Amino acid sequence: SKPVVAIVGRPNVGKSTLFNVLAGERISIVQDTPGVTRDRIYAEVSWLDYNFTLIDTGGIEPDSGDIILSQMREQAQIAIDTADVIIFITDVRQGLVDADQKVADMLRRSKKPIILAVNKVDDFKKYMPDVYEFYNLGIGDPVPVSAASRLGIGDLLDEVAKHF
Ligand code: GDP
Ligand code: MG
Repeated sequence: SKPVVAIVGRPNVGKSTLFNVLAGERISIVQDTPGVTRDRIYAEVSWLDYNFTLIDTGGIEPDSGDIILSQMREQAQIAIDTADVIIFITDVRQGLVDADQKVADMLRRSKKPIILAVNKVDDFKKYMPDVYEFYNLGIGDPVPVSAASRLGIGDLLDEVAKHF
């Protein structure tokens, strides 16, 4: 059967935007402000020769630090339980934050393949110096992408597909 890929990350880093780029449709709702409850969203993705099931785990995003962290843990656990490969997505504009580190620790312990995507690198020259900070998560080489500008998506999928 097809491999399952899950997207995990904090609210507002661009999970749904990346999901929609990969799904080739506007299925997942992109939120300018967190605070909307909805279910996990699945898509069957065909990208060049890669066929996989994609999950956007970013369902419930209330506006409270503690709740966000506990729900991120829940989402990470769903990804760990169901996915063959996990895309952990972060935001170069916000930089590395404590919640990223906590979820990364959890993902790392799962031993599942984790691909670290650093999103919102809309301008590689401008933002690449800030991408290197994400090596501190200890989950491998950060892959710079801009989901909104569709940059780096092919390179990201190549890294994901190495684990199929
Ligand atoms: P999610 O909460 O992680 O699902 O994030 P969304 O996909 O809903 O995106 C949150 C916000 O970030 C929206 O305003 C998006 O338009 C914006 N966004 C997503 N990807 C990018 C990107 O590559 N660059 C920039 N500049 N903004 C982005
Ligand atoms: Mg979302």
